[in-house]
Amino acid sequence: MISLNLVTLLYLLASVCFIQALKGLSHPTTSRIGNTFGIVGMALAVLTTAALIAGLARPGAASLGLGWVLLGLVVGGSVGTFMALRVEMTKMPELVAFMHSMIGLAAVAIAVAVVAEPHAFGIAAPGGGLPLGNRIEIFIGSFVGAITFSGSVIAFGKLSGKYKFRLFQGAPVVFNGQHALNLLLAVAMLAYGIWFVTSQGPNAWMPFVVMLAIAFILGVLIIIPIGGADMPVVVSMLNSYSGWAAAGIGFSLDNPMLIIAGSLVGSSGAILSYIMCKAMNRSFFNVLLGGFGNGASGADAAAAAPQRSVKSGSAEDAAFLMENAESLVIVPGYGLAVARAQHVLKELAAKLTAKGVSVKYAIHPVAGRMPGHMNVLLAEAEVPYDQVFEMDDINGEFGQTDVVLVLGANDVVNPAAKNDPKSPIAGMPILEVYKARTVIVNKRSMAAGYAGLDNELFYMDRTMMVFGDAKKVIEDMGKAVE
Ligand code: NDP
Repeated sequence: MISLNLVTLLYLLASVCFIQALKGLSHPTTSRIGNTFGIVGMALAVLTTAALIAGLARPGAASLGLGWVLLGLVVGGSVGTFMALRVEMTKMPELVAFMHSMIGLAAVAIAVAVVAEPHAFGIAAPGGGLPLGNRIEIFIGSFVGAITFSGSVIAFGKLSGKYKFRLFQGAPVVFNGQHALNLLLAVAMLAYGIWFVTSQGPNAWMPFVVMLAIAFILGVLIIIPIGGADMPVVVSMLNSYSGWAAAGIGFSLDNPMLIIAGSLVGSSGAILSYIMCKAMNRSFFNVLLGGFGNGASGADAAAAAPQRSVKSGSAEDAAFLMENAESLVIVPGYGLAVARAQHVLKELAAKLTAKGVSVKYAIHPVAGRMPGHMNVLLAEAEVPYDQVFEMDDINGEFGQTDVVLVLGANDVVNPAAKNDPKSPIAGMPILEVYKARTVIVNKRSMAAGYAGLDNELFYMDRTMMVFGDAKKVIEDMGKAVE
């Protein structure tokens, strides 16, 4: 048996751990300790809540009993462990989108249960209706949860890129009157929500269910017009939504842990969305209101690009150029993660450094498929942090750099963002590698990147393409540098 005071204390400790986790995760050098804080905080929060639900803290109160709670912990914990152990690094973004969708669905499921039996949650007396405040909280928590769920399902499809279903394609889905329809649905959802809030007992069900159905549709409609390079904002935005949904439900359940954890996720996700928008020079509201630009599909642009010739060379040619350079900047992109070539890359960099070449890494904030993807990749290979530079810190140096080695990056080095106002990525800041004396680009083919665009960088006179899987190419470069 544990006392309610102890529950409060454990929740407080868990909250402090979560704040420390966020602080730690804000820098690569402290991210491991941040993660440990997160794990400890979550363990404390889950076990304390389990004890509360099992009735260990409130003897005599309605409870599920320890058996059901343990069953839930074992099933949920096993599924989570299994998925986390199996997931490949490049599939992390889909896993994150999947988890957001589960948080949204959980919020909706709890809201439905509270509306059905408020007394079971200690919110109303048996036979009594839901208090007004709780109805408002349930309305907010459930509609945000429903939008998060269906929006995350679409984001999952778009990020995985392997489903034929049109709504799961990276290219934006746009149609006439899209914004008007979204606005109409949002107003209707609000109206049904107000109807639900002002109704009692069985009368509340109809507006509640219609409000939820509209929210599910709205989640789909908000995400489908966002495509190409703008998905990073969607990932962080849904992250934020999932937190607010949890916080809303925390209020209606009167659970301070859920309120605190939800608010932390909601606000940190909102800050991340802001950072992502800034990194891409986008207005947050434009993205939120259903994509921006002219809705042109980058894939169409790439398909329409005429066949042009490029200069290509071997890994050995590239190694020769790098060995004889004074300065080398390496630009990792999504392809490096696909090839899992971070360890061989570190070995190559060490060999070049030993030969007197100054080696730096340049990271674009949206490189890869999730915020911080490239930082995590390089940290995994234990690349020294002082060699890793963010875009704003290194862009001024490309003009004086001898050689830039672009590894599996495409959109984040595409000059079209600066030079072509009609491009779907127009305005997005890029790593200005085209200013370097020599540019070596490694990728497997002339295929487009995530935004589906042709890349002028590949056709420049001072660019040499080295075709092949990044891992094999880097290994060959390493052998040639011996
Ligand atoms: P891109 O997706 O633009 O390009 C990756 C390139 O890697 C491709 O052109 C591909 O060409 C090449 N590649 C793939 N596999 C390999 C391999 N095994 N070896 C060598 N090359 C390979 O990546 P960037 O990192 O430049 O840009 C990220 C894009 O993803 C941006 O558009 C960004 O907005 C978007 N995005 C980012 C998110 C984030 O949070 N960071 C989230 C969602 C989307 P080829 O097939 O010819 O090899």
